[in-house]
Amino acid sequence: MLGLRKSPWIIHYDASSCNGCDIETLACLTPLYDVERLGVINTGNPKHADIFLVTGAVNEQSKEVIRNIYHQLPEPKVVVAIGVCASSGGIFRDCYNIAGGVDRVIPVDVYVPGCAARPEAIIDGVVQALGVLERKQSEMSALANCIDRILYLRATKADAAEILVLQKIAYQTEIELYGDDSLPPMQQTLEELEHDFEHVPVNAPSLLPADRDLAAAPAAPARIVFLKAVINGKIIGSIRGYQLGDTAYLSRMIVHPYFRRRGVGRRLLPEIEKAFPTARRFEANTGHQSKRNHYQLTQLGYRQFKTEPLTPTITLVYFEKLRPAGTSGSRPPILVSS
Ligand code: SF4
Repeated sequence: MLGLRKSPWIIHYDASSCNGCDIETLACLTPLYDVERLGVINTGNPKHADIFLVTGAVNEQSKEVIRNIYHQLPEPKVVVAIGVCASSGGIFRDCYNIAGGVDRVIPVDVYVPGCAARPEAIIDGVVQALGVLERKQSEMSALANCIDRILYLRATKADAAEILVLQKIAYQTEIELYGDDSLPPMQQTLEELEHDFEHVPVNAPSLLPADRDLAAAPAAPARIVFLKAVINGKIIGSIRGYQLGDTAYLSRMIVHPYFRRRGVGRRLLPEIEKAFPTARRFEANTGHQSKRNHYQLTQLGYRQFKTEPLTPTITLVYFEKLRPAGTSGSRPPILVSS
């Protein structure tokens, strides 16, 4: 951590700036301000950077590049939006081609005001970013040290905001995979997610399989059950599902990228199956290129039974699993330690 604090490496990207903020950012590296003497290095390789500086508002062309750079930065990482354009879209926010500030695409940690942002303010923003970086680093170390103490709990509406943030982080890799940011999980708002906690799926058709005719459903759908995987009070994974007739539909299994390949997903799925003790069949779907999900589902006894186009670039692959005769989810997944 000392290396990060004393010598943070930054990467700078111009999202569509008028160049005012870019010049001020580069001025920080000139002899007058000379942040390199403090150990700050401006790198061109995102894989070497700790802090991502973005100038200018986001447009259709820069959106993908921002995401691409962001995902190449190793965890933990901090994003600094420099100037009002990067913070909110600024004077360009109502332009036809402007999506808004950087936080429309990736999570932003520090906002530096100004038009143009002054070098002193930018340096101050980087110093604040160091504080955020240090906090994230210590949080992650603490969490990584107790990966064997994950709790799998029933989530409530109070968890909606944290689950939504996690959902948007987790689905970034899917967007990169398919080059399509119109995926429903990325478009979901907090109000919609909170609504899902309180209403039966008939009011949330986006969660339903396209061919499901609710009117012909054999039984009224139950509420959506949300599970969360928690370490030290922080949600690092989640899954949701509901039962319709004999079938439990499971969806949106999300795990924070830092905690992937540690068995969290492999526990979430069986845990939510237990939430539907009367279900005889479980159904889940995932994108055709999400090979890791295919592998995980297959390992847990699911088998592929159909495919269906979702968008021009994504085909959904459906998996099902029949509950072995004589078994049932004997207890609700309220408190399980991995
Ligand atoms: S904040 Fe001002 S100087 Fe910076 S990119 Fe926007 S218009 Fe240009």
